[in-house]
Amino acid sequence: MTGTSAIIPASGLGKRLSAQGGKSFVPLAGEPMLAHTLRTFQNCSAVDEIALVVQRERVPDAEALVRDLGITKVAAIVVGGETRQDSVRNGLARVSPECDIVAVHDGARPLVTSGIITATIEAARIHGAAIAAVPVVDTIKSSVDGLLITGTLDRDELYAVQTPQTFKRTIIEEAFESAYADGWFGTDDASMVERLGISVRLVWGSYENIKVTTPTDLVFAEAILLKSEIRNPKSEMRVGHGYDSHRLVPDRKLFLGGVEIPFELGLLGHSDADVLIHAVIDALLGAAGAGDIGRHFPDTDPAYKDIRSAELLKRVAGILEESGWRVVNLDITLVTERPKIAAHVPAICESIAGVLGIAPQQVNVKGKTAEGLGPVGEGLAMECFAVAMLIQIS
Ligand code: MG
Repeated sequence: MTGTSAIIPASGLGKRLSAQGGKSFVPLAGEPMLAHTLRTFQNCSAVDEIALVVQRERVPDAEALVRDLGITKVAAIVVGGETRQDSVRNGLARVSPECDIVAVHDGARPLVTSGIITATIEAARIHGAAIAAVPVVDTIKSSVDGLLITGTLDRDELYAVQTPQTFKRTIIEEAFESAYADGWFGTDDASMVERLGISVRLVWGSYENIKVTTPTDLVFAEAILLKSEIRNPKSEMRVGHGYDSHRLVPDRKLFLGGVEIPFELGLLGHSDADVLIHAVIDALLGAAGAGDIGRHFPDTDPAYKDIRSAELLKRVAGILEESGWRVVNLDITLVTERPKIAAHVPAICESIAGVLGIAPQQVNVKGKTAEGLGPVGEGLAMECFAVAMLIQIS
């Protein structure tokens, strides 16, 4: 016996999320919350099997979810009990004989990591019982009547416990038997083990391993997922390239990246001829597989006569958002003999980032000269090259 079974109770009602049929099925970043939890356990090599516990009427949905996600480790889908403790007991009854370690994890903690799961399993193998926890950051007061404070607890000794709560199988089975024999109910699995006098090891969890209980928790969970996805994408990423050039002529204002640059010449074109934004638009549309600037904003259409290109970029941002693309970064090279653009680069980055709803740090602008060669070198025109990277979020 050397295997590890994970019991995932996912039969909570989710009253505070107004979730019909259980909070584990509430959408989070476009999928049921439970999908995130299951995928992490599937990908954690320390876990051999999963016993998933859901409400009776959710069994068909759970089966479909497991099948659609390709979760091969689910050994049993178990009907939950009246309380969480009952649900875990039902899961415990279905753990395979080969498993000597049992990790219990709430379906509604979708941001757990493989590292945290593995750490509790390794600690449970050594110490018998180990749970994920983090030091409490708020000062905790006690109050008997909810009106007057009766005490201030010593924060240095306080930990907020999470899941996984992981045990040697013999220990958790004994704890459940004893609790039911005595009619004892606890709010977590470790407390049942503690009442047997067995010490439980704390393992460092994560402040991001939150339990999603309220609508606000869902907002936090979405934000954390988005951050981790950008850093560590499982979604598709694509690059796009854009190029544009415009003549420099008198009696035109010069716009670069949506910023008006003081200069005696301006760029000639149907719109404001912002060569930098035009290159960026083509890079973005190219990465999204959405054609080019001419297809979306034809220069034969009077609607675009003298339009500010920043307005066109804003529309492109809308096209990207509708199709689930998010900008990872932009790298832009503007080729011009004059004027020098170095002093304007911060304003251009801010302008582009502002229109796209990204951070200025995601936009890089470089100025180059053409060394006096060709029409650009002679100061008759400007050229711009742009590369964009996008990530598919939804
Ligand atoms: Mg153009």
